[in-house]
Amino acid sequence: MTSISPLVAPPHFKPAIKESSSPHHEKLALLLDKNKTIKHLSQIHAFIIRHGLESHPVLNFKLQHSYSSLGQVEDSVALFNRTQNPNVFFYTSIIRSHAKNGLHEEALHFYVQMLSENVEPNAFTLSTVIKACTLEVGKILHCHAHKFGYESDSYVSTALVDVYARGMDVVSARRLFDMMPEKNIVSSTAMITGYAKNGDVDEARSLFDGMEERDVVSWSVMIDGYVQYGKPNEALILFRQMLKSKVKPNGVSMVAFLSACGQAGALELGKWAHSYIRYNETLSNTQVGTTLIDMYNKCGSIEEARMVFDGIKYKDAVVYNAMIGGYAIHGFGLDALKLFKEMTDLGLRPTDITFIGILSACAHAGLVSEGWSIFHAMKNEYGIQPKVEHYGCMVNLLGRAGQLKEAYNLLSSARIEADRVLWGTLLWACRLHKNVVLAEKIVEYLHERGLSNSGTYVLLSNIYAAAGNWDGVAGIRSMMKQTGVQKEPGCSSIEVNNNVHEFRAGDVKHPKSKEIYEMLEHVNGWLRAHGYSSQTDEALQNIGETDRERLLEVHSEKLALAFGLISTNPGTSIKIYKNLRVCQDCHAVMKLVSIISNRKIIMRDRNRFHHFVDGSCSCGDYW
Ligand code: ZN
Ligand code: ZN
Repeated sequence: MTSISPLVAPPHFKPAIKESSSPHHEKLALLLDKNKTIKHLSQIHAFIIRHGLESHPVLNFKLQHSYSSLGQVEDSVALFNRTQNPNVFFYTSIIRSHAKNGLHEEALHFYVQMLSENVEPNAFTLSTVIKACTLEVGKILHCHAHKFGYESDSYVSTALVDVYARGMDVVSARRLFDMMPEKNIVSSTAMITGYAKNGDVDEARSLFDGMEERDVVSWSVMIDGYVQYGKPNEALILFRQMLKSKVKPNGVSMVAFLSACGQAGALELGKWAHSYIRYNETLSNTQVGTTLIDMYNKCGSIEEARMVFDGIKYKDAVVYNAMIGGYAIHGFGLDALKLFKEMTDLGLRPTDITFIGILSACAHAGLVSEGWSIFHAMKNEYGIQPKVEHYGCMVNLLGRAGQLKEAYNLLSSARIEADRVLWGTLLWACRLHKNVVLAEKIVEYLHERGLSNSGTYVLLSNIYAAAGNWDGVAGIRSMMKQTGVQKEPGCSSIEVNNNVHEFRAGDVKHPKSKEIYEMLEHVNGWLRAHGYSSQTDEALQNIGETDRERLLEVHSEKLALAFGLISTNPGTSIKIYKNLRVCQDCHAVMKLVSIISNRKIIMRDRNRFHHFVDGSCSCGDYW
């Protein structure tokens, strides 16, 4: 969560206690104000006790406040409990001390105690407690703010905008925001957070663009919003603008930037970020390290991911999960299993995410018996109930091995809600093993529950095509046309010279479009010379005019490949990112091009990585 708390106490936060005129007291009070370390504080405290000044109200308050600022919650509570009739400032300080340390319930408890002692809250009390509460409690506190006359106080209204935005009630948040006489950087940032969280990233952006002043928090929130919304390119562009505006990135913006690099497959930018982090040591923490591992894995550089992993001194389960997940999508099942053993040997408790990683590693590497024993161990040894994702891995694993019936039985007996993606995985296995009967059964099941979508029908149509059932293909196509089911457009991207280039199927918008299509012609010439006939050729004879056009449309990954071939030096690896699963034809083409052009082609599709080297693929033609 981003910090939206005002870093200094507002002007009205002054203890209403008559200060003693004794120079001794004044000196001590001054010392307490300046104090920054716990050691120093305990020395002053000891001095105060030695001189019997403990009951002095100002010193007592300042001591308690210092302990609370340094995160020494227990000490500050002890002092609080010794204070007779604590006033609003004492209460606010103790509430703040708990809220700052994430002890939200305790903060609320002191607030309630304060009200029952008939101590009236001030604006700072309210803004502090609102920042630590949920939307439901926030609504009650909103009434309190109104009752005590602090609704229009800028700290209180900022906290209220934040609590409504956090609770996804963007409408109320916006209403409060619009009513604020002076919109500050904190309230605007809270509002942007609200929009981004709601997926209304455009609205957030227009608010962001309208801000007169932006700090690193507002930039980070906007960049992270794009990442969460799956718009990595916008995030990358905005990050560059942030640097141009001379705003120094913090941990949050760095993590968001690295995630964007991972999503877009922008390895060079990711490497730049890595060296930037190394140079600015303050930025390196476990979370940044984990995001780095994830970025390298997603950008296809598993060796560099491992180097970062090895460099992290204190590894927790989250760090292990990131590396295991990387081995999984790259198909290095045995490495993932080795790491899993290392992790449990160290006494780290695997989480449900660990098991998603390890089971999908088994699936991608075809380790059936290992997969089963881990699936059982997860339930019986670790007491983790399998979720949709775990079943998905098992279905993938069994489907790959051709054990469709076992997969079907597992899903049918699973105590989870029917899930489109899960059954879609089994459907995909039916396509690979050309099991039309089971496929039809699954599509019917999904259709009955309102879970079928364009992907389901496209897949069934592909299964019919693979089995040579052209009537089936035509039936599905016309059904999709009638019901207006739209196919999700394919999109591929490739990074060249620090820029990410995006292609859609049949795209002619790229400035180098002419050269790209010439290169494609060239590639087709190679393929024909090697005796390859496109899988669409066969299909073309059996379908109507519009479908023929659709099939002839060049898939986005081929455009990205052609662009990679014309814009990088011979021998350079080509890395392509595709939003959908790669089709059989493109997969076959990539394999051949890897041998003909003598290049390594690494491709990430929706499901996994494919490393095409010397004419074969690391997925073993199962994906
Ligand atoms: Zn394709
Ligand atoms: Zn493959």
